Amino acid sequence: MQSIKLNFQVSHSLAELFTYTLSALGAEGVTTVDREELAGLYDGRPALNYAMDDYLASLPEEARVEAYFKPAQPWAQVAENNQVLVDLDRDYQAELYEPEHTQPLSLKALLALLEDKVQIFQENLGGSCSFEGAEIIEDEDWDHQWQEFYQPLRLSRRLTVCPSWLSYEPDPEEMVLKIDPGRAFGTGYHESTELCLKALDDLAYDQPAFFQEARTLDLGTGSGILAIALAKLGARHIEAVDIDPDAVTVAQENFQGNQVADRIQAATGELNQLKGPYHILVANLIAKLHIDLAEAYPHYLAPGGYLILSGIIDEQFPKVRQAFAQTDLVLEEARLKHDWWTLIFRKLDA
Ligand code: SAM
Repeated sequence: MQSIKLNFQVSHSLAELFTYTLSALGAEGVTTVDREELAGLYDGRPALNYAMDDYLASLPEEARVEAYFKPAQPWAQVAENNQVLVDLDRDYQAELYEPEHTQPLSLKALLALLEDKVQIFQENLGGSCSFEGAEIIEDEDWDHQWQEFYQPLRLSRRLTVCPSWLSYEPDPEEMVLKIDPGRAFGTGYHESTELCLKALDDLAYDQPAFFQEARTLDLGTGSGILAIALAKLGARHIEAVDIDPDAVTVAQENFQGNQVADRIQAATGELNQLKGPYHILVANLIAKLHIDLAEAYPHYLAPGGYLILSGIIDEQFPKVRQAFAQTDLVLEEARLKHDWWTLIFRKLDA
């Protein structure tokens, strides 16, 4: 099988969103090697399976992003017509979509579309992005290339994320989340996920009885990582939803792989389709969505309930805080890692 591989050099500030956008635009696979992200992850932690220092030193400063698209027709014709099949059917975030582009798209048009997205990201995040050329790949096993970068990592007091295809011997107090993210977001490596895992772990540690009985929701479950964490930390009533049906499929596979499927109700959907109220609602989305949902969130929280919001890039933090100032939620804690904020709100007892 042939794939078209597109090569990009991207600043760290843009790498995550850029990678995500490529997947949303229909890339069959995206691999990202980001020195800054890897360095941050391993900072102060024992490198687990390979010589991290040498490896990091060998990487360029900018992140290297490779995206694999299916050609609409054999390469000879692709070269002639410059056509790449871009499947935009995955309906994940309305503002990133151009619904009219559901037909095969020329490589030039695809790059123009990407440039538009990058410009929007740059307004908020700065940084640069350059296209470094395209090549045809025969029988490339891109689907598995990224797996070598994904290693077990202790992310909070008790939670360790471990790729589902690796075996790992946990310490007695350690809880292992076995994750195969597939095409969904949520390896645990991103700051926004890590901060949610830490917040959940702390809450479960400090209030185990409350946690066990809490009705909980993982909004935007992606790979299912946060719902699995809720289950492993002791929650008995868990719902997990995502607007992307592919993510829900991936999440359900991960629930089974972690033997927690019987405790988690998974569905494709959005907040306004749910009933609530929840005692713990964790949502790792983007700042704009949190702002849009600021008025709605309190209606889905039980008195005394916690709302954990993540995925808030530093520049957007004031806007999010302002949006929530109009609500009856109290900001109990704001945690920052690199450029990412996680906010812990509480609804006062009635
Ligand atoms: N929960 C995982 C984590 O923490 O790593 C994945 C978070 S990922 C940043 C955001 C997820 O939210 C994506 O899987 C996306 O499809 C989903 N999503 C985006 N907008 C949504 C919405 N309005 N309602 C529910 N899910 C949404």
